[in-house]
Amino acid sequence: MSTTERPRILVVGGGYVGLYAARRILKKMRYAEATVTVVDPRSYMTYQPFLPEAAAGSISPRHVVVPLRRVLPKAEVLTGRVTTIDQDRKVATVAPLVGEAYELPFDYLVVALGAVSRTFPIPGLAEQGIGMKGVEEAIGLRNHVLEQLDKADSTTDEDVRRKALTFVFVGGGFAGAETIGEVEDMARDAAKYYTNVKREDMRFLLVDVADKILPEVGPSSASGARSTSRAAASRSTSRPAWTPAWTATWC
Ligand SMILES: Cc1cc2nc3c(=O)[nH]c(=O)nc-3n(C[C@H](O)[C@H](O)[C@H](O)COP(=O)(O)OP(=O)(O)OC[C@H]3O[C@@H](n4cnc5c(N)ncnc54)[C@H](O)[C@@H]3O)c2cc1C
Repeated sequence: MSTTERPRILVVGGGYVGLYAARRILKKMRYAEATVTVVDPRSYMTYQPFLPEAAAGSISPRHVVVPLRRVLPKAEVLTGRVTTIDQDRKVATVAPLVGEAYELPFDYLVVALGAVSRTFPIPGLAEQGIGMKGVEEAIGLRNHVLEQLDKADSTTDEDVRRKALTFVFVGGGFAGAETIGEVEDMARDAAKYYTNVKREDMRFLLVDVADKILPEVGPSSASGARSTSRAAASRSTSRPAWTPAWTATWC
């Protein structure tokens, strides 16, 4: 890492906010005025709004990520996790991918750590469910869903088929609504390649504690989205008491 005497602007988190903050700072700075250091455990920024499309296979996973070193050639990019920040001493502790943690002094600090998927107080969800924050999860979800079609296609056991062909998505916000829409389209379309699985055999459930989906948009758009999805796919925002399913996604 850089040990020059220039002041260091430390950006913790190289996601959407961190990447664009670093880009803007570098653009506004005079030559060699300061060192901009970006620390993230991943060497790439994930454009999360495209994750549902990646899960559906409509875009390639590499189009969802942006390598930090490529888009921030004038920044110092460190791949590691910031574990502590000491504001008084102006020092952050970085745990790199390998080796001992070390202290990194800074003069200015930008904290852009993002959020983690909510696990809700639902026993087992965090352990069994598939989140939707990273490209690995999106591709994992796609493979998992297709595997369920394989399972259902290869058995005559109705209980196994029902469990394999029931897909539960928890959370009716943007992420959940978009993910169920994209994955459902993909799965129902894929049914044409299967002998024993039909489009209508699949059940997609969008579960939310609220009585409406898409709280981020106005009531009319949300109710429009809800009625469209009901008509197209018989989704439900009610809460089934017990639904055997091998797929639970939390968004
Ligand atoms: C499926 C989905 C669909 C979405 N669709 C939309 C949409 O249509 N429109 C919209 O406006 N928004 C959408 N969003 C939300 C949008 O993606 C987020 O608001 C945005 O990514 C937030 O940016 P951020 O930089 O705060 O967090 P992130 O982009 O999540 O970045 C946080 C970064 O911090 C890093 N980090 C975490 N812990 C540490 C640590 N200890 N040390 C160092 N680095 C760390 C992470 O690795 C990550 O790179 C969607 C989100 C999802 C999941």
